[in-house]
Amino acid sequence: MRTVAVIGGGASGMMAAVTAASGGARVVILEHKDRIGKKILSTGNGRCNFTNIQQEPLCYHSENPLFPWRIIEKFDARAAVSFFLKLGIYSKNRNGYLYPNSDQASAVLDAFRMELDRLHVDIRTGIHVRKIQPGKKGFTIYTDNGQVRADKVILCTGSKAAPATGSDGSGYDLAKQAGHRLIPVLPALVQLRCSGNFFKAIAGVRVNGSVAVWAESECIAKDTGEIQLTDYGISGIPVFQVSRYASKLLYEKKEVSAVLDFMPDFTEEQTDAFLRARAKTRPEKPAEKFLIGLFHKKLSDLWIKLSGIPRDKKAGEFTEQEFGKLVCLIKQFEVPVTATNSYEQAQVCCGGVDTAEVDPETLESVYVPGLYFAGEILDVDGMCGGYNLQWAWASGHTAGEHACAAKSR
Ligand SMILES: Cc1cc2nc3c(=O)[nH]c(=O)nc-3n(C[C@H](O)[C@H](O)[C@H](O)COP(=O)(O)OP(=O)(O)OC[C@H]3O[C@@H](n4cnc5c(N)ncnc54)[C@H](O)[C@@H]3O)c2cc1C
Repeated sequence: MRTVAVIGGGASGMMAAVTAASGGARVVILEHKDRIGKKILSTGNGRCNFTNIQQEPLCYHSENPLFPWRIIEKFDARAAVSFFLKLGIYSKNRNGYLYPNSDQASAVLDAFRMELDRLHVDIRTGIHVRKIQPGKKGFTIYTDNGQVRADKVILCTGSKAAPATGSDGSGYDLAKQAGHRLIPVLPALVQLRCSGNFFKAIAGVRVNGSVAVWAESECIAKDTGEIQLTDYGISGIPVFQVSRYASKLLYEKKEVSAVLDFMPDFTEEQTDAFLRARAKTRPEKPAEKFLIGLFHKKLSDLWIKLSGIPRDKKAGEFTEQEFGKLVCLIKQFEVPVTATNSYEQAQVCCGGVDTAEVDPETLESVYVPGLYFAGEILDVDGMCGGYNLQWAWASGHTAGEHACAAKSR
């Protein structure tokens, strides 16, 4: 019986282990934390958004853009739903975002643990893998607690995001030892730090709007939804969605800015007409009260301050220029982006093992036969909304299937 060693017992590692064991292999998981699947517990705010029914190639990013979809097509959202249903997880659909019906991420982990148990997968925790040595007959895996022999190895060590859950980036060194090149690894699905001494005054405000990342007079990415203003910059799902682009641009030492639009359903002309009509309805309102009821008070105060309109000036007396200033602040609020938050706060990383050096059918290394990759260690990151776990399931499934099917080295 062939032995498959899975390095890292996270989402992709557990899926790879279940698949390889179901295919008849003897499987061992080597995990350096005291338990497997720690990150899963914090996914989806503790509810685990495990996939999304809206799937298209653009939901996944890589330097090799066609690569992720080839794997996703082989194990799509429907396959994930039916896989989890077999494990007892009935899904709940929230606008296409799928969660376990119990709304508990722990249910997903429990279901995996039961399945791994049923398949007699050997789970060894507290085992840090330092080196994977290919030999004439399989691999020797060097750990802090001795050596492990295996015919095949699947590297599922994740990225550097949320390192407290175990993904400390040490897997990248294992990939490099095997001769693999890394696409620069950077925080993604992360908050953006911006300069502007007013952020403290508007911290805590949540507002519907759009955020666009700009560099060198070009709009690189844009998304709409609930933006959260913080004392250091901006957060929220739309900010997460564009953060990977900001991360890469900052890494390339480009000047990056975020342009916020607080009335995304209105054009500038419509916003201008809307403000003028508002001023006509209550011309006696002082500037400091003019925007009350339209925006959060903290934002209204900031815009009146930044517009330079005297606080007691009556709305009916606003000049052309003053309306223009307000429209500009509401529709094109530009703030320089100085950094992303760190790996500790990032949900995923962009970059990782270059997929050009991995077989797109099997996820086997092109340099080391018998070595496979799955999950975030690869240069693939998905949008926020269940896509990163879908990638973990699909890549784990593919690697597990081929590791147990292929001939021994
Ligand atoms: C707060 C948060 C919320 C998230 N929410 C969602 C969500 O709702 N939906 C979604 O799709 N995605 C979400 N994600 C992203 C998703 O969790 C990850 O993309 C996914 O878990 C990656 O799976 P993985 O198996 O590649 O890596 P991981 O799950 O990180 O697993 C890697 C494992 O390898 C182990 N390991 C690392 N190095 C070694 C070593 N040298 N030796 C032994 N073991 C090692 C680690 O301890 C870890 O257990 C979220 C992420 C975070 C941080």
